[in-house]
Amino acid sequence: MTETKATKKSNLTRNIFIALILAIVLGLLFQSQSEFLGTYIKPFGDIFLNLIKFIVTPIVFFSIIGGIVSMKDIKKVGEVGIFTIIYYFLTTACAIVIGLIFANVFKGFFPVIATTDLEFEVQNQVSFMDTIVNIFPKNFLTPMVEANMLQIIVAAIIVGFSILLIVKEHQDKAIAGIEVLNSIFMKAMELIIKLSPIGVFCLLVPVIAANGPKIIGSLASVLLVAYLAYIVHAGVVYSTTVKTMAHMSPAKFFKGMAPAMMFAFSSASSVGTLPINMKCCEELGADPDVTSFVLPLGATINMDGTAIYQGVCAIFIASCYGIDLSLGQMMTIVLTATLASVGTAGVPGSGMIMLAMVLQSVGLPVEGIALVAGIDRIFDMGRTTLNITGDATASLINTYRLRQKGKIA
Ligand code: ASP
Repeated sequence: MTETKATKKSNLTRNIFIALILAIVLGLLFQSQSEFLGTYIKPFGDIFLNLIKFIVTPIVFFSIIGGIVSMKDIKKVGEVGIFTIIYYFLTTACAIVIGLIFANVFKGFFPVIATTDLEFEVQNQVSFMDTIVNIFPKNFLTPMVEANMLQIIVAAIIVGFSILLIVKEHQDKAIAGIEVLNSIFMKAMELIIKLSPIGVFCLLVPVIAANGPKIIGSLASVLLVAYLAYIVHAGVVYSTTVKTMAHMSPAKFFKGMAPAMMFAFSSASSVGTLPINMKCCEELGADPDVTSFVLPLGATINMDGTAIYQGVCAIFIASCYGIDLSLGQMMTIVLTATLASVGTAGVPGSGMIMLAMVLQSVGLPVEGIALVAGIDRIFDMGRTTLNITGDATASLINTYRLRQKGKIA
């Protein structure tokens, strides 16, 4: 890394961090002005998010195709893909087990909350089979228009593999074209990322002002348990996998990931954090082709933070209703939360929708979601941070594996 690149990067980290602290302080100071902040400051955060959403679709589509074609051999892509999916599933299952253990240990501290008169209407609920069917696009443009990430990934994989299978003459042209498009969108993304300190500030101030310490106070125990589990998962599981499988010191990893983690914390969107996550991973030494394939996949299907949140909330809601879950029910939660995390979109709040599926799988009342809905954003900031960190570990581990095998430089 050249010195200017390093300085630029630390400036961005520093600026995002300053924005984060400023947003928390001002948000707490101006709680009485939360309406004003929501009306006049939040829109600037929304503009920034719009720009991110605008760039994320082409980035995912072209970078996955680019990742596939640059690996040039179908076996290599398949190998990275299968390893990554298994790694994602295992770490997610681990996450939910950690969440369940913490929630069970601390459930004595959960407050008794009146559960009568609770109302929570489940919207957009999808069954497991629907989730599978919906992975496959039935139209070329709809996935792009609706920014349906799973479908975009499937479309990109089909196109990417097809490029590898066409005649050499056409293949060379297609690869050159994809490279040009990739570099255009990457440049656009770089420009948008420069705005992230402002974006972070404008997104976070209204959230802090509106939630304030009061509402957080009454639900502090469940929030604390979730955050404790998030931290333990990152500190134990990711540190171990990064150390043993990517041969990188956890301190270096977390330091390099700081900008992406702060961004995820403020935006509560894995997909929105994708561009900055790619940048951080590459600066940590991850191979760009591996990163372009593994991170979008992770931002779509790998949600360890969401899985922890679902486990903790399931125990919390059960305990509010005075229900004790059996070991079998907990196993069901591990399974459904792992699957639910695949179906969770990497945008703010979607983990809460999928919580309905987890609750139903063990017969818990879905209305219980109302208990935690008011502070969902606070859960979401932490779970998204964990979600994207898990994706980053996979990109570094895959890079190390392929380098060891001499398959990439
Ligand atoms: N906001 C999370 C993410 O983007 C998903 C969730 O709501 O759990 O990763």
